[in-house]
Amino acid sequence: MPKQSNKIEHTEDRLLSPLIYQALDSSASGIIITDNRLPDNPIIYHNAAFEKITGYTKQEIIGHNCRFLQADDRQQAERQKIKEAIQAGEHITVEIRNYKKNGDLFWNELYISPVVDEKGAVTHFIGVQNDVSRRKQVEEKLAMEKDFVEKKVEERTESLRNSQEYLNSIIETIREGLVVLDPNFKVLKVNKAFLKIFKVSEAETIDKLLFDLGNRQWDIQTLRELLLDILPTNNPVLDYVVEHDFPYIGPKTMLLNAHRIELEGSYKDRILLAIEDVTERREIEKRKDDFLSIASHELKTPLTAIRGYIQLLKRFIDAENAKAIDIVEKSDNQIERLNSLIAELLDVSKIKSGKLDIHHNDFDFDKMVKDTIESVQLSNAEHKILLNGHTGVICSGDETHLSQVVANLLSNAIKYSPDKEAIEVDLARFGDHIKVMVKDHGLGINDSDKRKIFERFYRVKNVQKKFSGMGIGLYICQQIILQHGGSIWVDSELGNGSTFSFTIPIKKTGIQNEE
Ligand code: ADP
Repeated sequence: MPKQSNKIEHTEDRLLSPLIYQALDSSASGIIITDNRLPDNPIIYHNAAFEKITGYTKQEIIGHNCRFLQADDRQQAERQKIKEAIQAGEHITVEIRNYKKNGDLFWNELYISPVVDEKGAVTHFIGVQNDVSRRKQVEEKLAMEKDFVEKKVEERTESLRNSQEYLNSIIETIREGLVVLDPNFKVLKVNKAFLKIFKVSEAETIDKLLFDLGNRQWDIQTLRELLLDILPTNNPVLDYVVEHDFPYIGPKTMLLNAHRIELEGSYKDRILLAIEDVTERREIEKRKDDFLSIASHELKTPLTAIRGYIQLLKRFIDAENAKAIDIVEKSDNQIERLNSLIAELLDVSKIKSGKLDIHHNDFDFDKMVKDTIESVQLSNAEHKILLNGHTGVICSGDETHLSQVVANLLSNAIKYSPDKEAIEVDLARFGDHIKVMVKDHGLGINDSDKRKIFERFYRVKNVQKKFSGMGIGLYICQQIILQHGGSIWVDSELGNGSTFSFTIPIKKTGIQNEE
């Protein structure tokens, strides 16, 4: 491809004409455009093939830096080559290990081309991706086969027997119910756990069609479709829930996972179905959720009364009695703290029961962020919160809840960077999305914790004792952002600070003033 052959017309929201977009969308290669002028060089456009190759959705792509494609595989020499080419403003083609949303590795033949403006400054990058995993696999396989073909023949019989024994012993040891199916869903094998869970015999199961078992409990249209998909596409069935009144064992909740299995030569195109009885676990979770909901409601009632009494006390207190006024003020502050903790717990139980109300109103997004920063700054004088950029957007969303998200990210940034005073907030708009980034220079988060911190009640182990918290702030933030059709994520390295970012679509009302 010739260097810098891409001409980009710069209009307000769309870089290219609809015709070109249509052409890009018809391409079998994944194509993305990033905006080098925005913080962290975010993706502002991708075509349909890019979603297909990576498995990510638009919401998970737009606004992100491309590095998510490498997941945790960051030590590849190709990354350095890309960095150098980008710095030099040159185009480059590399073959790099990338990962799909489901974690599957794919080899990406990646062509990156910078776009420069009249002054020679790089404004955008265009990335063209082709999944060359197949070619790579074939190359690797050929090389291996050339060297080891004789050895393989010798080892084959032995390894086959071992693998079969190995698989059988795994199947028998596992506590979940396991079923091996042929491509027509006929049951070839079940393990002891399956017979025990469903109180059935092998005779009632083996050689029968899966969908005919029991009182046809597995004969569910969507499950059929998912299972039919496994062999041609290799897509597993993950955590499919079946609630059913089963023969012999009654009403139960079962969690199903299914994968294609293949043992060299012998087993080909078989499906391994794992069935886990999660009835009890679900009941305990439900009891916990019910407790949370009842407890937070019950706590709220007396607290509301106490707040009222304190307000009353303030009126009756002797204006000369400084000591008494101070004590009442301090009580009031603590009650407010307690009130917001209970409000957070209530939010969690509302989210769990699907009752978190999101009201869409038009509001000035930049003003909301500014006001939120001001109020957080007021009670945190030791940190300096700096605001960069603006969106200029009148946003259609829930102002109170979005302000809660920004306040939460700011309080976390402050809490988890006790000795580093600077917190930066970046605002940006691209196309039909706005993006907020909250950056601190504090503790940072390691890779395995990064995946879990948005879960309910998750707190990073070694900070639990030092910093107070309930582990629900980020969970609530994520739910609020998801309900606005956006996405929230963190970029962080242990010891090197964290940047929490979220994007949301602007939806209807539009733009207030242009940059
Ligand atoms: P909480 O702060 O109450 O524990 P959150 O849900 O807000 O709950 O955060 C979950 C966890 O994520 C925290 O316990 C902390 O370990 C980690 N975390 C959140 N924000 C940051 C940050 N800015 N820097 C480092 N760690 C963070």
